Amino acid sequence: MRLTVISGPSGVGKSTVVRGLLERCPQVWLSVSATTRVPRPGEVDGREYFFLDRERFDQMVQAGELLEWAQFAGNMYGTPRAPVEQRLSAGIPVVLEIELQGARQVRDSLPDSMAVFLLPPSWEELVRRLSTRGTEESAAVERRLQAARIELAAQDEFDYTLVNSSIQDSVEGLVRLMGIEC
Ligand code: 5GP
Repeated sequence: MRLTVISGPSGVGKSTVVRGLLERCPQVWLSVSATTRVPRPGEVDGREYFFLDRERFDQMVQAGELLEWAQFAGNMYGTPRAPVEQRLSAGIPVVLEIELQGARQVRDSLPDSMAVFLLPPSWEELVRRLSTRGTEESAAVERRLQAARIELAAQDEFDYTLVNSSIQDSVEGLVRLMGIEC
């Protein structure tokens, strides 16, 4: 099993670290999630996410096409199952970048997977990163901070934690934990 789940509170820098990992290790495949969230400026359908309406998302849930799914800050998110299974059976290392409820589902359904939780250097730093992102209204920031408190409380459920003080160090830590050559 070469499935790595990367989780951690919104604003901790998961996407930046994962991007760094993919640049350094091109053999790693990052799953593209489905979501009902509206695209942020610059996001492309099929690249950052598959942007779906709620009806289509619910159809995928009903059809069992999602490996895991969750509601987060008012939107639905889920991992399409088939592309993950294809990569894993081809021996390709797969990364999921997902929130806590989804990480729990993967741990239950695929116990061989490795779950890594990214921590902010401090709570103050997380608030700063989330508030200065500028892509979210203040109500949405507040929802994400609320979710972050809950996520941080669950860090012990993960196989490993990494403090994201520097992107380079976090990428290095992931490469080591995943045991890949790159
Ligand atoms: P954002 O809206 O900032 O892109 O993502 C919000 C949260 O949803 C992040 O914590 C992100 O990791 C998580 N997320 C993204 N895709 C998925 C998914 O497929 N499943 C789950 N459970 N969470 C996801």
